[in-house]
Amino acid sequence: MKVKDWVKNLVTYNPGKPITYAAREMGMTADEIVKLASNENSLGSSPLAVAALKENINTFYRYPDGSNYDLIGKLSNKYSVLPEQIAVGNGSDEIINLIYSAFCQETDEAIMAFPSFAEYLLIGAVHRVNVLRVPLKELKTDLDAITNAVNKNTKVIFLNSPNNPTGTIIKYDELMEFLKNIPEDILVVMDEAYYEYAAGKPDFPETIDFIHNFDNFLILRTFSKAYGLAGLRIGYAIGDKEIIDAINQVRQPFNVNKAAQIAAFAALDDTEFLYKVRSMVESGMTYLKSEFKNMGIGYTESYANFLLINLKTNAENISDKLLKKGVIVRSMSGYGLKEFIRVTVGNETENKRFIASLKSVLNEE
Ligand code: PMP
Repeated sequence: MKVKDWVKNLVTYNPGKPITYAAREMGMTADEIVKLASNENSLGSSPLAVAALKENINTFYRYPDGSNYDLIGKLSNKYSVLPEQIAVGNGSDEIINLIYSAFCQETDEAIMAFPSFAEYLLIGAVHRVNVLRVPLKELKTDLDAITNAVNKNTKVIFLNSPNNPTGTIIKYDELMEFLKNIPEDILVVMDEAYYEYAAGKPDFPETIDFIHNFDNFLILRTFSKAYGLAGLRIGYAIGDKEIIDAINQVRQPFNVNKAAQIAAFAALDDTEFLYKVRSMVESGMTYLKSEFKNMGIGYTESYANFLLINLKTNAENISDKLLKKGVIVRSMSGYGLKEFIRVTVGNETENKRFIASLKSVLNEE
C-alpha cells in the first residue's frame, strides 16, 4: 500500500483535548475537569432540540432527508432568502471542505487572515491549494493587506467575524469597501460561526444584506456554538444560488444526519435558550475581564464566547500547568502567538475555577 507522500505530510487539526483524555491523564474524574478550550456552550444544548431528539428517537432507522427541506425552509424564512440560497453541511467544517472541492484545484490559491480558524489552511492543504496567510494588524483582520495579496491564482478568501481566536469583528463599512475591491470571480467566504453571540451588538453588521449585492459572497453559520449542538455536526451556508448549487453538487447525498437536522430545526425556535446563553456569556465576560484587569492581563475586544489573553510569558507552559489542575484552555503558540491563550467563557463555576487556577499557576512562575 502506498500512501501519497504529500498526504503523509499533511498537518491535521489539533482539537481541544477531550475531557475524558484530560481526566485519564490527570487521574481525575470527568466532573473535576473544566474544559474551556473549544468554545463550546457551558449551558449545554438547546432544550427544545433535546426534546425533539427524544421524541424522534425511534425514527433513526430511516435515512435523513438529503435535501434538508424542513430546516432549509425554516432558515429561509428566518433570513428572508430563497431556499435555493442555503446549503447545509456536517458542521461548517464540511462546508469549508466542499468550498475547496467546488471552487479550487491544484495551483489555485486561497487567502486567510492569520491567526484565524486553522481549518481554512489545513483543509486547503488536503486539496493541494496554497493558502496565503495575511497577518492580523493589531490583532484585527487586515482587509487592506488581504486585498493587496489577491493575485491571478486567488479563488477563495476566508474571512471570519467574530474572528477565532481574537473575537474581533469586521464592520459594515469595512466589509462594503473590501467587497467592492475584490474581483467578482473570487469567492469571499464570511465565516460567522459565532454570529449568535455578536448579533445586535454595536458595530456588528447583519451581513445577509451583502448577499443581495454581491454574488460572490457566502456566509457560514453553525449550530455548534450558541445552540450547543457541536456533537451533532451541523452548519449552513447562505449565498447566491450558483454558489449553493456548486456546494450541493460536490456533497454526499446524506451528508447531514437525521438527528442533527431534527435538533437544528427545533433549536431555531429556542429564543429563550439563546437569551440565557448570551446572558451567561455576557456576565462571564464581565467577570473575566475585571479579573484580567486586576491581574494586569491584556485581552482583545471579543464579540464571541471566548477571550484571547496575553500572559506575557510562555503560554504553552501555563496551559500545561492549568491542565495539571484540570483546566483545559487553548495555547496559541501554534499560531505564532507564543504568549497568548484563548479561553472560552464558561459558566460561573468554571470561570471561577479557571481564574483561581490561573492565579495559582502564575504565582508559581
Ligand atoms: N469556523 C470557526 C471560526 C470555528 O471556530 C469553528 C469551530 N471551532 C468552525 C468554523 C467549525 O464549526 P462546526 O462545528 O460547525 O464545524
